[in-house]
Amino acid sequence: MTDPGENAASPRRPSVGVRIGATTMGGSAPVVVQSMTNTDTADVAGTARQVAELARAGSELVRITVNTPEAAAAVPRIRERLDMMGVGVPLIGDFHYNGHQLLEGEPACAQALGKYRINPGNVGFGRKKDIQFAAIVEAALKYDKPVRIGANWGSLDQSMVAALMDENHARAEPWDAARVGREALIRSALDSAARAEELGLPRSRIVLSCKVSGVQELIAVYRDLAARCDYALHLGLTEAGMGSKGIVASSAALSVLLQEGIGDTIRISLTPEPGESRTREVIVAQELLQTMGLRAFTPLVTACPGCGRTTSTLFQELAKTVQDHVRAKMPEWRLKYDGVENLTLAVMGCVVNGPGESKHADIGISLPGTGEAPAAPVFIDGAKAMTLRGDNIAHEFVGVVEDYVARRYAPRA
Ligand code: SF4
Repeated sequence: MTDPGENAASPRRPSVGVRIGATTMGGSAPVVVQSMTNTDTADVAGTARQVAELARAGSELVRITVNTPEAAAAVPRIRERLDMMGVGVPLIGDFHYNGHQLLEGEPACAQALGKYRINPGNVGFGRKKDIQFAAIVEAALKYDKPVRIGANWGSLDQSMVAALMDENHARAEPWDAARVGREALIRSALDSAARAEELGLPRSRIVLSCKVSGVQELIAVYRDLAARCDYALHLGLTEAGMGSKGIVASSAALSVLLQEGIGDTIRISLTPEPGESRTREVIVAQELLQTMGLRAFTPLVTACPGCGRTTSTLFQELAKTVQDHVRAKMPEWRLKYDGVENLTLAVMGCVVNGPGESKHADIGISLPGTGEAPAAPVFIDGAKAMTLRGDNIAHEFVGVVEDYVARRYAPRA
């Protein structure tokens, strides 16, 4: 891990810890990575397969849609299948509109889930809203489960928005519309949490979120929300988008908040490219936390971008080979070696920054740039240890990494 020095993140905002199966979020627990499936939950095999894939990629909680009686009936079977696969990741049920009916109608679903997620704007409408909200809280009490109360910009309770607009008109200096909207979102979450507490749900079983799709709005909403409560907070930019746009927008918003100590669990809501693995959102969440120095999951490879001094693709290929190798080996290494996730590696393209950057990593290699002698010095713990040559550099360097890991990290007891 790099020394964060003067730019260390602020201490985490104090929050009430929440247990979800064997995972804790909030309190003194590290920021938890979560993700969500995009399979039809009624498809037991397909959903279990994707949950397992997300969990193996490092997702510590996985949310699944529970929208129909068929989906609710599938949940205990998915749980059973995952347990048989040795995947213990807690499942979170995502409910909208009919959550009260599904939890009541499928007790095995209510029991198998580790947490329920509800949206106060979608629990019900008019007089039914309070009754249906209470029914969900009662299920959480009966089955001893936490609840995330997740307000969302796109599904705000319009009666609350109208009431806040009226309140705003009466102000000597009315707020602008954006501020009224933020207040509606925060009040929706806080009022629902207060109601859940009145119904008997302890604070240690309540998580809040207030999701919006704009970076500056998300930062403003969470700063305000964090200052007004000590519930554990779930962070995420909703509808972040596809590819680099989704990654950049989520990282920009979440990194500001995490740096200020706000946030107990994160999800990166990426839209996968057609055919792309859903695990990308887990990897991005882990890399965000790791590059900020908040957690360590997988050895990261520092690589230079390349420039006119690198006229071959050798160093890009080596950087990719090394990163893919450590990611593929991590499930095994994590079980065998204590602290291996903190390993740092560097793959550099030429002599300009190659030796210097390589010396800062645990293991680094400086490949020959255009016109340099065809030799690649390898640095281990800051000192030159050997020089690799020929066509087999990638294979040999991976071997050096393997030897180092086995030597440096103590076997787990
Ligand atoms: S280390 Fe060399 S190849 Fe890499 S960006 Fe710098 S000058 Fe270019």
